[in-house]
Amino acid sequence: NTFAEIDLGEALNNNIHRCKYVKPTPVQRYAIPISLSGRDLMACAQTGSGKTAAFCFPIISGIMRDQYVQRPRVARTAFPLALILSPTRELSCQIHDEAKKFSYQTGVKVVVAYGGAPITQQLRELERGVDILVATPGRLVDLLERARVSLQMIKYLALDEADRMLDMGFEPQIRKIVEQMDMPPPGIRQTLLFSATFPKEIQRLASDFLSSYVFLAV
Ligand code: AMP
Repeated sequence: NTFAEIDLGEALNNNIHRCKYVKPTPVQRYAIPISLSGRDLMACAQTGSGKTAAFCFPIISGIMRDQYVQRPRVARTAFPLALILSPTRELSCQIHDEAKKFSYQTGVKVVVAYGGAPITQQLRELERGVDILVATPGRLVDLLERARVSLQMIKYLALDEADRMLDMGFEPQIRKIVEQMDMPPPGIRQTLLFSATFPKEIQRLASDFLSSYVFLAV
């Protein structure tokens, strides 16, 4: 029961070792194999449970396994392969920092976009290419409206702290975002939903966005 026993790809396994992660936390122990099998997942996870790695590892590993994916050539439009939605700037930056450490020397490029900050620098980053986009819902809708991001190529979607995103009133933005991900078809997109609580609103989101998902509570 160590990370060395889970085949996530050599570069990622090396980074995990470099980060001094040896044993998976409970949520990682179950979420990572389920995600690697391609299933959708709704997982109960609190802050500090290691949930960031639980969704980052399978996504990075999957993008490495997919090898180079040809993107449409549309000037100034970024076509990420994975989207991680999170409620706040602070959390998005934390996820971005961790995801960058995990993707060191994997060739997987991570970019963050959040509101309440000038958009110019974020646009420049996006223009340099992005595989994994970490974003807050409001800023992402802005980027979609400016056609600076397209979600056509999204194969992996992670929703972090979904209950908090709904509490902050982001449900319309989240629905608008997910509606734009119909290529590849919903059967191909893999969705990972993480939440600390499971009120009716979250269950409805899960039944709308996930297909035959595994429910994990640890
Ligand atoms: P998170 O719940 O994702 O915010 O992670 C909480 C903290 O635990 C972060 O500082 C992580 O870097 C750390 N962490 C996550 N998973 C592990 C692990 N398997 N071994 C050691 N530290 C970890």
